[in-house]
Formats: sequence, structure tokens, C-alpha cells
Amino acid sequence: MKAAVIEKPGEIVVKDVPVPGVADNELLIEVKASGICGTDIHIFRGEYLGTYPVIPGHEFSGIVKSVGSRVTRFAPGDHVAVEPNISCDNCPACLSNRQNFCEHWNGVGVTLPGGMAELVAVPEKAAFNIGTLRFAAGAFVEPLSCVLHGVQRTGFSLADKVLILGAGPIGILLLKAILLEGASAITSVDKNASRLELARLSGAACVESSFESLPEDGFDVVVDATGVPAVMEKTLGFARSGGRILLFGVPPRTSKVSFDAFTVFRKGLTILSSYTSVRNSIQAVRLLESGKIDVSSLVSHEVPLSDFRHGIELIEQGKEGALKVLVRPDLEDGEPKGRKR
Ligand SMILES: [Zn+2]
Ligand SMILES: [Zn+2]
Repeated sequence: MKAAVIEKPGEIVVKDVPVPGVADNELLIEVKASGICGTDIHIFRGEYLGTYPVIPGHEFSGIVKSVGSRVTRFAPGDHVAVEPNISCDNCPACLSNRQNFCEHWNGVGVTLPGGMAELVAVPEKAAFNIGTLRFAAGAFVEPLSCVLHGVQRTGFSLADKVLILGAGPIGILLLKAILLEGASAITSVDKNASRLELARLSGAACVESSFESLPEDGFDVVVDATGVPAVMEKTLGFARSGGRILLFGVPPRTSKVSFDAFTVFRKGLTILSSYTSVRNSIQAVRLLESGKIDVSSLVSHEVPLSDFRHGIELIEQGKEGALKVLVRPDLEDGEPKGRKR
């Protein structure tokens, strides 16, 4: 089968690799849509937890091709999405329902072969039936799960006024999920005008291209969806006294942020982070199936496997209105790398 392989940091090849074997507790999935995520770029750049060589891709959906002898929930032909964090279920963290901090964690597409391939094998417990949901939407089950985990940790109140810094795919998913929590007004900030337009269409009451016109102390909750340290540092000033701050964006590995400690004290702020998800996939599938969260406007490009590298460049350079770039292994090489929107 064909797969995109990151041989070592900075080196991607698309090549033939053996079809994965399927253990008793595993499914073999034919990948139909596989989203490129910032984490894939970090793995490509050698900035994350990946083991090399690795087939990246942890945001994907597809069709079950075959099942191991102990699999009970799936049959060939089922449409599934994958929750890529594989926990051991037997360490102190797992036994305390904190599977995201599993001491023996493995990640599909990070430490295990992922979805940037024609076929991938995953444990049954990592797979979720998506029924008739489109595969492109199924590729959002993972990022939406992470967003839902962050939103639940934050604990929004009805009618909260919320500021979201960053209107990329994650910023927009946060916007949609926080609206469902009953926020009265969400302000989105981004430098990119087309992203702000998408935020407005997604329900933002107000959009801003800079920090200047934002009210100091003006928001119940401030969410960073950029991971840019200089932006993360701004969050404190915009939160009201007693407010909450969610640092959701993934910062560069060795970066530092600096806060005015007295401001944190005087304003009585709650500063939260959120790391991956804890079994939020069923929630994500339900929100996508019901249409309560619609992700169709988030897919900017669909490309064949051979264009994985090009997809990374589109995202890194923010070219051609890139939002979520989906790799579709069923597209032929050279097939129009069509922009979708
Ligand atoms: Zn991701
Ligand atoms: Zn564990």
C-alpha cells in the first residue's frame, strides 16, 4: 500500500509499505479522509513526541476492511473515525480516568502508524462508528474531541462573554462549541480577513483584526487558540476580575510566557490548559451527526497522498486560504489539488 512516511525530521517520502497486520483486537481501516494538523507539522519538524520513521495522521475516518477475531462492535463496511490516543488502561493515570496522561501512552500517527496511508490498523477501542456522516466530517472527530475536552474543563456559564484569539480551524471549532455552551457574545480575533469572515459566519458577534479596540477586563472567558507566546501573554488583560483563561493553542516546545503575577492575584484569575481529550469521541460524533457542529466550511483543500508535503506547506505558509487540508488516499496522483472553497 502507499503511505506518507516521515523518515526523520524534515524528510517525507510517499512510498509502498507493507499492509499492516491485524491483531485479534484490531480493525483494518481503508482511510478516506485524513486531516493535516499542527501536530503533524511538529512531527515533521522534529518538535514533538514522534518516533521515526512514522506514518503521520491522527485525524482520520474511513471504511472497515477487516476485523480481528475478538472485535465485537464492528464489521467490514462500517464507517468509522478514530480516537488516536491509545491508553494502557492499567496505570495509575488510566485507573483514575485520566487516560490522556497514560504512562504507557501511544498515539496513532505519532508513535504508531497513522492515517496518511491507504490502510491503517487500530485497536477496536480507538474506533467509533460514524454511520452516514461524510468522511470529511469524520476527520474532525479527533480535533473536535480535544476542543470539547477543553470546553468542558473551562466550565462556561450561561450568557458568558467570550474572547477567542485565533480563527483557524481550532479557533472556529472552539467558537462553535462555546456557542453551544450558551455564550451570549463571542469576539474572534485574527490577522487574516478571510478567517474573520468565517468566524462571523460561524456565529461570532464581533470580529477584530487587532487587539487595539478590545476592551480591557471585558470578557468572562478568554481563550487562546494560537499557541503564540506573545498572544498568550495578552489574555490576562482582557479577562474580567474573577475571569477564566483557557490556553488551548499548542506553543512551541521550548517557548516561555511571562505574566504579571500581581495581576493574576489581584484579578483572581483561573488559568487553564487542556491536553488532548478523555474519551470525547462519542460526543464529537453526535454533534457532527446532528449538525449542531458543521465543519464543512473548515475544509479548504483535499489532496492526494503524494501531496502531503504540499499540504504541510499550504498550512505553514497560510497560502491559498488554507484552513484544514484533508489528504484523501483515494485521489489519484496529479488529480487536481483543487481548492474546495
Ligand atoms: Zn491534531
Ligand atoms: Zn495508562
